[in-house]
Amino acid sequence: MALSDQVDPQEAARRSSRGAAEEPGRRRLPIGSLPQEGMSGEDAYELIATELLLDGNARLNLATFVTTWMPPHAARLMADTADKNMIDKDEYPQTAELEARCVSIISDLWNSPDGETPTGCSTTGSSEAVMLGALALKWKWREKMRAAGKPTDRPNLVTGSNVQVCWEKFCRYWDVEPRLVPVEGDTLHLTAERAVAHCDENTIGVAAVLGSTFDGSYEPVREIAAALDDLQARTGLDIPMHVDGASGGFVAPFVQPDLEWDFRVPRVKSINASGHKYGLVYPGVGWVIWRDAESLPRDLIFDVNYLGGHMPTFALNFSRPGSEVIAQYFMFASLGHDGYRQVQQQSSDVAQYLAAEIEKIGPYRLVTRGDELPVFAFTLKAGITNYTVFDVSDKLRERGWLVPAYTFPENRQDLSVLRIVVRAGMSHDMADLLLADLRDRTEFFESLEAPLPRPAETQAFSH
Ligand SMILES: *Cc1c(COP(=O)(O)O)cnc(C)c1O
Repeated sequence: MALSDQVDPQEAARRSSRGAAEEPGRRRLPIGSLPQEGMSGEDAYELIATELLLDGNARLNLATFVTTWMPPHAARLMADTADKNMIDKDEYPQTAELEARCVSIISDLWNSPDGETPTGCSTTGSSEAVMLGALALKWKWREKMRAAGKPTDRPNLVTGSNVQVCWEKFCRYWDVEPRLVPVEGDTLHLTAERAVAHCDENTIGVAAVLGSTFDGSYEPVREIAAALDDLQARTGLDIPMHVDGASGGFVAPFVQPDLEWDFRVPRVKSINASGHKYGLVYPGVGWVIWRDAESLPRDLIFDVNYLGGHMPTFALNFSRPGSEVIAQYFMFASLGHDGYRQVQQQSSDVAQYLAAEIEKIGPYRLVTRGDELPVFAFTLKAGITNYTVFDVSDKLRERGWLVPAYTFPENRQDLSVLRIVVRAGMSHDMADLLLADLRDRTEFFESLEAPLPRPAETQAFSH
C-alpha cells in the first residue's frame, strides 16, 4: 500500500465518531473482540472513565495496603515518565541511576552493614521481590549441600501459616516444600520456638513477616534469629533468614526505629518491601535488598546486552515501567526522613485511635491494636450470636466503607475478624466518620432479637 493511501488514524477516529454521533446509542465499548471501527479518543476516554466509576472509592477502601493517594507532583512526574522502560538501562541511564540511589537509600534505612556495597533491585512488588529473595536462599542452600556431597532434592522453607500467598506460590513454582507453621492460641504468627522446631538440614531459610497481613502484628525477627543461633551452636545447622517487610519495611524504620528486625540482625540475609504500600507510591513497585554481595549467588544474575550495553539484572520479567521507580525516588527526595516519619506516625496514631474507640463500642474485642503496623483486627466478643463480623462488613459497605472480614488459617479457623488498614490520607476526621457509621450499624445489630438469616459461605482470605 502506498503511503498516501494509508488512513490517517486521527481522521479515521473523527470519521467513526461522527458516524457514531449520527446514530445515538451506537457508541459502545468493545467487549469480546476488537471493533472494526474505533471512536474518537475523547469519546473513548469519556466512556471508559464513566465505566470505571463502578470500581468504588479507593479512599474508603480500608482493605488494601496499596497506596491510593500521592501528591499531585508525583502523579505528574509519573505521567511524564510513563514511556520509560526500566529494563532499558542503556537508553535510560538516568532512570537506572535513580533506581541505584533508591537501593542505597533503602539499604541505609535497613541498616545495611558498613563497608558493604548495597546489593538489590526494584521489582514489580513484594511478590516478585520474595521470589528473588527466596531463590537466592535456595541457590545458596544447594551450593552448600553440593559442597558437602549431600542430596539437593528435598528443599523446604519455614514460615508461619499466616504468610502472604506469594510464599506459597514461590514454594509451588520452585519446587520447595512449604513448612507452614500453624498459628496457635493467641499467638497468631510465627514464634522462635515453633520456627526452629520445623528446621532441618534441608531448610533453605526461615521467612519472618513484618508484619502479618492478617492482623498487622510483627513477627519476632530478633528472637527467631537468636533461636537459630542457638540451633547452630547445638547442631551446626546454619539457617539464614529473609524478612518479608512488604508493609513493615517502610513503617518500622520510622515508627519503631529501635526495633531490631533488619540487617542489624546478622542472620537476616535479605529483606523485601512494597514501594507501593507504605513506601507511598502507586502500584507497582517493590524492592529486595541483600545484606552483602555474598548473599546473592552470582549465577542468578544475567548480563543483559540485548538493548546495547552490558547490564547485570536479576528479575523475573523484562520490560516494565520506569515511572514507579522514579516516583519512589520523588517520594524519598520530597518527604525525606522527617516527612516519612510524620506520615507513618499519623497513620499509626489514627490506627490506634480507631482501635481504642472501636473497643469502647462494646461488642468488639481487639485482636491487635494498630501499634505495630497501622493495621488492626477485631472480632466479636464470645456469646454474640445474632450477627457476625461478616454482617458488620456487609453493613459498612452500604456506606461505602470497605472493611473486609475473614477467617484465620488452620488451627484458628474459629477466629473471624474485621481488619482495618490505615494508610496515608486517612485523617482523624475520616476516622470519626467511620466510627459514627460503625456505632450506628452496631446499634442496629445489637437491637436484633434473633439471629440474622445466615448469609452465604464465609469468604476465603487471600491477601
Ligand atoms: C502485600 C504483601 C505481599 C505481596 O506484595 P505485593 O507488593 O502486592 O506483590 C507479600 N507479603 C506481605 C507480608 C504482604 O503484605
